[in-house]
Amino acid sequence: MIIFLKPNLDPKEEKNLRRFLVDRKIEVIPVDRKQEKLLVVVGRFGELAKREVESHPAVSRLLATDRPYKLASKSLKVSSQIPLKNGPLIGGREIVIMAGPCSVESKSQIQKMAKFVRQSGSHVLRGGAFKPRTAPYDFQGLGKIGLHFLRLAADSQKLPMITEIIDVRDIELVEKYTDIFQVGTRNMQNYPLLRELGKTRKPVLLKRGMWATYKELLLAAEYILIGGNEQVMLCERGIRTHVQETRFTLDLNAVAYLKHETHLPVIVDPSHGTGRANLVRAMSRAAIAAGADGLLLEVHFDPRVSISDADQAISVEELNKIVKEVKKVAQAIGRS
Ligand code: PEP
Ligand code: MN
Repeated sequence: MIIFLKPNLDPKEEKNLRRFLVDRKIEVIPVDRKQEKLLVVVGRFGELAKREVESHPAVSRLLATDRPYKLASKSLKVSSQIPLKNGPLIGGREIVIMAGPCSVESKSQIQKMAKFVRQSGSHVLRGGAFKPRTAPYDFQGLGKIGLHFLRLAADSQKLPMITEIIDVRDIELVEKYTDIFQVGTRNMQNYPLLRELGKTRKPVLLKRGMWATYKELLLAAEYILIGGNEQVMLCERGIRTHVQETRFTLDLNAVAYLKHETHLPVIVDPSHGTGRANLVRAMSRAAIAAGADGLLLEVHFDPRVSISDADQAISVEELNKIVKEVKKVAQAIGRS
């Protein structure tokens, strides 16, 4: 159950309501959103309590939901859109393409790539500065200077940017640079990180854990939403299966399922989802056909020498083809 408070409520009236709830042993978590304040009820809510709360002068309405993820659930909203400065609306009619290298490798690399990303018709520049690598001996990213290069490159082409946050201690720094926080597969259940991102007011792209169920992904999103940050999008990036021929198995069931279950936009990452550059185009088309709101793609000028994720990096030429083809798929299903 979600209790919506009346707008511009006198703090005294709110306090009165909170006392009223405590007296009835109704535990709530307050959520301060941009347009409204609400109280998410923890646990069950009897019929009598419901009628009493509903008629309380501080309450505008109640919303019942049988899902464990109350704020991510479709009963709250049909769809949510995330506006971007110098960019399209994520979750709107137009599909959004985020493209760039796995890692920012140098100032000139990202600068040049930003130009191609814009020219291809893509909308957001991606690039990792803090990399969550499997081995501690592998390239860990350029860190702060990488963020700086990425921002300069994005601004030079008037593109928004997205970059990964791997440590709660870096939020303040990364927030200064980025337009969208990316939470990677390995951090999907890093709850302290998710809670802190919930306190920011910047969009968050939350990647599905490579082992995670849909419910676990939605509950992870709930940790961000409960902080009052409404700008969350989910990302399917492939899961671990018995298949050996691809790095992960891109689970497009997730797209169709999540579009039914949540109002949050859904993005697909066919680069990590396949791990193979020659499969990325087909799976990009399939993702959009399945209803995804956008794509996250890894691109490199010379994929063979990409410092990280070389096998899945597509060329700039391939990016151009993908943008053209997915636009046609989008049009075929009434999008653009
Ligand atoms: C990435 O986008 O480069 C990345 C590390 O993704 P994931 O968390 O899906 O592995
Ligand atoms: Mn990568």
